[in-house]
Amino acid sequence: MKTILTGIRVNGELTLGNYLGALLPMTRLANQHSQDSKINIFIPDLHTIISDIDGNLQTNLIKSIKYYLASGLELNDNIHIYRQSFVPAHSELTWLLNCFATMGEVSRMIQYKEKGEGKDSANVGIFDYPVLMAADILLYDANYIPVGEDQFQHLELTRDIAIRINNRFDQEIFTIPAKTTDQAKFMGVDDGIRIRSLTNPEKKMSKSDISEHSKIMLSDDPEAAAKKIMSATTDSIGKIQFDMFNQPGISNLLQIESLITNQPLQIVISRWAGETNYGDLKNQVATSVKTFLTDFQTKVNDITDQKVLEVLEKGEIYANQIANAKLHQVQVALGLRKNA
Ligand code: ATP
Ligand code: MG
Repeated sequence: MKTILTGIRVNGELTLGNYLGALLPMTRLANQHSQDSKINIFIPDLHTIISDIDGNLQTNLIKSIKYYLASGLELNDNIHIYRQSFVPAHSELTWLLNCFATMGEVSRMIQYKEKGEGKDSANVGIFDYPVLMAADILLYDANYIPVGEDQFQHLELTRDIAIRINNRFDQEIFTIPAKTTDQAKFMGVDDGIRIRSLTNPEKKMSKSDISEHSKIMLSDDPEAAAKKIMSATTDSIGKIQFDMFNQPGISNLLQIESLITNQPLQIVISRWAGETNYGDLKNQVATSVKTFLTDFQTKVNDITDQKVLEVLEKGEIYANQIANAKLHQVQVALGLRKNA
């Protein structure tokens, strides 16, 4: 059985980018594959605290599980949902992997360069985040990790560390996750999905962006969200085309429309290509976003905290069993434990 695994940090409310790039693809994959694969969805609460802690960790954590359920995730015995910090093997394996990861390769991670490099005040967690991510994946022998394109480099690092350790001990200790090109194919996309900031489409939409207008939050008032789309930055070319390089703002709107209405991108592009009125496209996308949020938020409100806690507690019993067994295997290889 293959294992498909994913997690989304909950350092704040989630954005439409998190939803379209990570949450919805995972729900679709889980529903498609849960008969013949193990599906692990975890809340990376330890990853979350590398960013400023806004005091809402518990609320955000519960809410993000509700988001999965509201996005149509159909629970069954092959779907396991758990909190990272409730499975101590994640922290333990991180330390062991740290001793096989190099300063050079971890320093080259783009997210570290963007968020921490050169800043004396940057916390060590920002630097070491990808190694914890490798532990999250390798503990469960995960094959596919549906994430946005911004996380592909971390997946490559995970592969490198796992291959290095397997070679060092001449054993298949870890399953090597699929290559990122195969990850994208598995998700049904050519490349990872990258929803852009609405105010600066050169950049991706990020939940930690301080500009409220740059991002649509899943908890946004639907009317207010529609207004953000109407004021999204575009360009002065005056013709609608899908061209992420020269027209990232317009292309982003086409992309959002395609994903949110579940239509192939090519269909949306051919509907709009060559049109000259950007306002019409914005109106269409604003309506789609508004309809989506209204419906989605109703579903979220119908799910109780109690239901979420039950799902988590069940998932954590399972996750601890799998993770402890893998950790033990690594400890034996390293000589920290006797083989017993
Ligand atoms: P932060 O600004 O705190 O880093 P983020 O919005 O980048 O927040 P992450 O917690 O880093 O969110 O990532 C969660 C998941 O969402 C990952 O799988 C990531 O690839 C995906 N993701 C994040 N932003 C986007 C985006 N703009 N488009 C598509 N996927 C995204
Ligand atoms: Mg991020």
